Amino acid sequence: MDKALPLVRTILPAVRGDTSVKVLPAQLAHAARVLRRQPLTTARDVMSPYDALLRRWLPSDLTRGPVAAFAAHAGVGPTVPGGALFAFWQAAYHLFGQWHGRGGAQNLTDALVRRLRSLGGELRCSAPVARIEARGGKVRAVVLEEGERIDASAVMTAMDPKAALLELLDPPLGGDIGADLAAARRSNVVQAVVHVATDRLPDYPNSRDGDWNGLQSYVDYLDDLTSAWVQAEAGRLPEPLPLYAFTPSAMDPTLAPAGHHTVYLACPAAPSRLDGGWPARRQELVERCIDTVEARAPGFRDSIRGTATWTPDEMEAVGRWPAGHPMYLDIALDQLGPFRPTKSLGRWRTPVEGLYITGAGTNPTGGIAGTPGRQAARALLADHR
Ligand SMILES: Cc1cc2nc3c(=O)[nH]c(=O)nc-3n(C[C@H](O)[C@H](O)[C@H](O)COP(=O)(O)OP(=O)(O)OC[C@H]3O[C@@H](n4cnc5c(N)ncnc54)[C@H](O)[C@@H]3O)c2cc1C
Repeated sequence: MDKALPLVRTILPAVRGDTSVKVLPAQLAHAARVLRRQPLTTARDVMSPYDALLRRWLPSDLTRGPVAAFAAHAGVGPTVPGGALFAFWQAAYHLFGQWHGRGGAQNLTDALVRRLRSLGGELRCSAPVARIEARGGKVRAVVLEEGERIDASAVMTAMDPKAALLELLDPPLGGDIGADLAAARRSNVVQAVVHVATDRLPDYPNSRDGDWNGLQSYVDYLDDLTSAWVQAEAGRLPEPLPLYAFTPSAMDPTLAPAGHHTVYLACPAAPSRLDGGWPARRQELVERCIDTVEARAPGFRDSIRGTATWTPDEMEAVGRWPAGHPMYLDIALDQLGPFRPTKSLGRWRTPVEGLYITGAGTNPTGGIAGTPGRQAARALLADHR
């Protein structure tokens, strides 16, 4: 980790294309120092799947399990080449810190909306786009599902790039670039979440102050996680169920009434298409999640005041995430950074003049860091200058 983390720190800004001339020499010197000793070992570690990396470097499942759970949190399978990058996250959070918007993630969106309005921008919600008109290789307008046509000389989509360019775009992206995008991969393994309202924090035996500040892993064995990915890909709810918890109200008391807490239970290897269908099996997921915590924190079930699910079918219906995939496309070495969603479309521009893509399916990847949005905005501004 001590070699790979500084290397990752150097690589990531370069992949995003935002390495400034001022810091580049220092970063390259840093990378050179890191790579001077055992460069091949370091390169192999960074390119490995995290399943292999953790088996090589960590002797026990006591540490492999939680590190793998954290890597899985990013939606990356244990056997995906290059997934090792995500096994460094836990260490990275210790080094660089992690942030939570007080009051919850909605406050970040609200702050961005206030900023947009303060600059004279307008926002319309609940206005789904049915079509992006682009005659003669130039974007002309968006047409809403309810029929309204909005003329535009520039359009930026922040949704699944496959849906945007192959379904909404009229005419759709064709040729090699269209075929390349059509081939971008989206697996059946996504996430499922159960939000739980409780009247106390999970009571882990021998716990200490601060134990609820980070991810609480219920992945006991790396093998369990690897096998869960295979089961979910085949449409089954994994057994044992890989699970982790966050208890954000332990750090942010504004999230729950006094004396109460929010427990976020997430399964990182849930099948998008589930045998028997999600509506029939949603409660089974809830019960299994609660049982998993109860086994580690006796009394958890009694502390529950309410639950709310967020399963892949609900994510697809509410969030319009195809297949309930929050990253739209799988995270893999050939679908990351400038290769996301494809090599030809990895710079936020499209072959259609005035049409840009951003969001989780674009360079560098998903998450709520805002990086694809900033880079896409820069591309648009540069073209319009
Ligand atoms: C369980 C779970 C946990 C996660 N945890 C984290 C985390 O801890 N940290 C982190 O950084 N990331 C996390 N993520 C990932 C993160 O939520 C996504 O990567 C991020 O929200 C993607 O942002 P986006 O703006 O690209 O897309 P979205 O947030 O999905 O926004 C796209 C919007 O476009 C809308 N849309 C789609 N089609 C149309 C259309 N035709 N017309 C109009 N609007 C349309 C959708 O309704 C949606 O509102 C998590 C995801 C999940 C599912």
